[in-house]
Amino acid sequence: MVVAYIGLGSNLEDPLDQVQRAFDELDSLASTRLLKRSSLYQSRAIGPEQPDYINAVAQLETNLAPLELLDALQTIEQTHRRVRLQHWGPRTLDLDLLLYNNETIQHPRLSVPHPYLTQRGFVLYPLADLDPNLHFPDGKSLQALLKQCPFEGLVRLPENRQPA
Ligand code: ADP
Ligand code: MG
Repeated sequence: MVVAYIGLGSNLEDPLDQVQRAFDELDSLASTRLLKRSSLYQSRAIGPEQPDYINAVAQLETNLAPLELLDALQTIEQTHRRVRLQHWGPRTLDLDLLLYNNETIQHPRLSVPHPYLTQRGFVLYPLADLDPNLHFPDGKSLQALLKQCPFEGLVRLPENRQPA
């Protein structure tokens, strides 16, 4: 069994609902169990003018190999009718494989840790909800990265908008 972290993001067609459903779909994957879900966050979009995002991170326990897990994530994205129209453009659901145990993976379809992981508050702050003592394969600590990453542009949704 491997512990993997998945970044969830949506800014179209009821993003809160897209993200909640995605958590359940991750829990339903073969050989996979959802261990924990982070709080939900709202973040300003990077790139072209578009609505704010809802972001969260899921902690999974899985027996899927890294590329099997990526395939499964892309299948879920497709069921949310994700259409890639524009680089960094709006999307109904984006699922990124952030971390896969302590492994470093360089494959044409898959880079782990996810390349943006270390700089993006909308990934780092939800990761800290799940495991504040997390370390990355290069030995850096999540806490050290958080110190360099302002909470700016990020809102933790209030309790009454968090999932039950
Ligand atoms: P982004 O998430 O960077 O905004 P996409 O979701 O459209 O962009 O992903 C583009 C490609 O990134 C996918 O086809 C996938 O093969 C590749 N990719 C590389 N590493 C990862 C990863 N760790 N998680 C998810 N996709 C990845
Ligand atoms: Mg993606």
